[in-house]
Amino acid sequence: MRKIQMVDLNGQYQSIKEQINSSIANILETSAYVNGPEVHAFQKELEEYLGVKHVIPCANGTDALQIAMMGLGLQPGDEVITADFTFAATVEVIALLQLTPVLVDVDRDTFNIDIEAVERAITPKTKAIVPVHLFGQCANMDAIMALAKKHDLFVIEDNAQAIGAYYKGGDGSKQKAGTIGHVGATSFFPSKNLGCYGDGGAIFTNDDDLAHTIRGIVNHGMYERYHHDVVGVNSRLDSIQAAVLRAKLPLLDSYCEARRKAARAYSKAFDGQENIIVPVTVNNCGEICDTCDCHVFHQYTLRITNGKRDTLVAHLGENQIPCGVYYPIPLHKQKAYADSRYDEADFPVTNQLVKEVISLPMHTELDEEQIDFITQTVIRFVNGE
Ligand SMILES: *Cc1c(COP(=O)(O)O)cnc(C)c1O
Repeated sequence: MRKIQMVDLNGQYQSIKEQINSSIANILETSAYVNGPEVHAFQKELEEYLGVKHVIPCANGTDALQIAMMGLGLQPGDEVITADFTFAATVEVIALLQLTPVLVDVDRDTFNIDIEAVERAITPKTKAIVPVHLFGQCANMDAIMALAKKHDLFVIEDNAQAIGAYYKGGDGSKQKAGTIGHVGATSFFPSKNLGCYGDGGAIFTNDDDLAHTIRGIVNHGMYERYHHDVVGVNSRLDSIQAAVLRAKLPLLDSYCEARRKAARAYSKAFDGQENIIVPVTVNNCGEICDTCDCHVFHQYTLRITNGKRDTLVAHLGENQIPCGVYYPIPLHKQKAYADSRYDEADFPVTNQLVKEVISLPMHTELDEEQIDFITQTVIRFVNGE
C-alpha cells in the first residue's frame, strides 16, 4: 500500500507538470512577476467558472476576508456575526479591523452557522454576517440572505473551503459557493481544493461599485497612480501562483469529484456504525449521490460519539494514518477572542463538536486499498476490538 497522506499534492503536480513548468519558465523569461498577463487571465477564467461578475485576486484568504470587510465600509464598533466553529482567520480579521466579533453556535449536522443563533444575535449594531462554508458545503444561504434582507445586513461568504461547490436554493436556483452573498472570499493555500504553490486568495462580487472599491484597496487605496483616496493594503497574487491556478482550474471539477468519490467510499464503509456519525449533505441532496455537487469535501469529518476521539487520534497515528482535529477549541474559548459577553449555554453544539470531530485523509489521490485500511482501522478501534 502507498503511504497515506493527509493531503497529497504531488499526484496533481505530476499530471500537469509540463504545463506548469513551461508557464513558470515563461514568467521567468518575461519577468512579469506581479500583475502580469497570467494574473489577468486567471481572473477572467475564474469569473467565468464561478459565474460571477468580478474576481479580485489578492495575496491570501485572510486578506480576502479583511479586504471584503474594508470594501463594505464596516466601521469600528460594528458587530459582525460569524461561526464559533471555524478556522481563526474569520474572526481574526473582524477583530483586527476593530469591528466587534459576535460568535454564534453551529448546526450539529452540517457544522455550519446556526440560523436561529444568528437571528438571536442580531442587534441594532449588527452590520454583517460571515457564514463559513465549512469543510466544503454551503451554509444555509437562503435563510442567511433572508435575514440579511430583513435586517439590512451585508453577507460576506468565507468560501476558503468550498470553491467549486454549488448551492441549491429553495427556489430551484443553483449558484456557486461564494457568489451568493454581497461578497465572497477564498484562499488558494496549497492544501485548499484549488491550491497554488504558495499563498493566494481572491474576492468575488457581482456589485460593480464594490468591485471598483476593492480593486483600489488591494493596491494601496490607489484608483489613479499615486493618488491614494482610501487607506488600502498591499495584497497581490503573483504571476507564478496565477499560472499554477490556471493549470488547475480546468481540473477543479474533476478534483471535487475525486474527493466525493473518496467521501462516498468512506461513508459506505461506516454505514451502520453506532458510534460513528458520517458527514451529512444538505441542499436537497440528502446523500452523497453520484451527481451531487453541493459538497466538495475539503475535509471528510466524522463525529465519534462514544468518547474515543482522542484515543482514536493516537491509534491512527500509531498505524501511520494521518488525521486532523478541525477544530479542537471553540473560538469563543480562544484567549484572543474570549469575552465576558459569551455564555457557555449559547454554545452547546460547538462545545460538543470539539470533543467528537476527527477529519480523515482527504485528497484527490486516495485509492481503494488505502480507504479500506483507514476505515477498518477506525471501525475496529472505535468498537473496542
Ligand atoms: C484557509 C482558511 C482561511 C484563510 O486562508 P489563508 O489563505 O490561509 O489566509 C480563512 N477561512 C477559512 C475557513 C479557511 O479554511
